[in-house]
Amino acid sequence: MRALRLQPRRALAVYAHPDDADVAAGGMLAQWAHDGADVALVVVCDGSKGSHGHSVDGPALATRRRGEVDRAAEILGLSAVVLLGVPDGEVDNDLDLRAQLVRVVRDHRPEVVVGPDPTAVFFGGVYVNHRDHRETGWALLDAVAPAAGMPLYFPDAGPPHQVGRLLLSGTHEPDVVVDISRTIQAKTAAVLAHASQLGAEDAEIREIVAVRAEQAGRPVGVAHGEAFRSVELTW
Ligand SMILES: [Zn+2]
Repeated sequence: MRALRLQPRRALAVYAHPDDADVAAGGMLAQWAHDGADVALVVVCDGSKGSHGHSVDGPALATRRRGEVDRAAEILGLSAVVLLGVPDGEVDNDLDLRAQLVRVVRDHRPEVVVGPDPTAVFFGGVYVNHRDHRETGWALLDAVAPAAGMPLYFPDAGPPHQVGRLLLSGTHEPDVVVDISRTIQAKTAAVLAHASQLGAEDAEIREIVAVRAEQAGRPVGVAHGEAFRSVELTW
């Protein structure tokens, strides 16, 4: 494990659900944005099934979650949020999703792309990684390496753009930690913006975010961190 110091000028995060980016990478994205980077976010799903309650109305929940993601993006300082609007549970790594992701990558031209590691399925014997996370992760990998950088893939989706680095969260093979000590408060506030998803009091959520960031930072000696699998795309 090593500390990663990175300040891209342009970055793109791609996640399945409206709250995923904040939980996984909110500190790092906020830090880049605060230091002048143009950081955009793609949310693949509409968030319409993100509830354990039977009486919750899916379309109303999706509308509420659109507001939450806008508020969280404002807190992090993101430049744009692209909502693809796929119903929760219906993400497929198909040609259509890859075409949409390639178009966003070629439009935004990020040096670094951040998203979920699709190879992680089971966590600690107590959690199965959501299918939407896995499908989004696979589609993102396929869109970035190699499609976006090669002109004969999706020729109608804009001029090719080669991404330099992938940072994958929710991974079993993290190899870098980003120090988020300066932005842990922004990350916490962004997570709290997703009020429809919080099954606990704010104080408890603050504690969970802090403890996880402390655990992630410890291997490289920083107070708060976020861990990723880093892939440098050289060719
Ligand atoms: Zn999710």
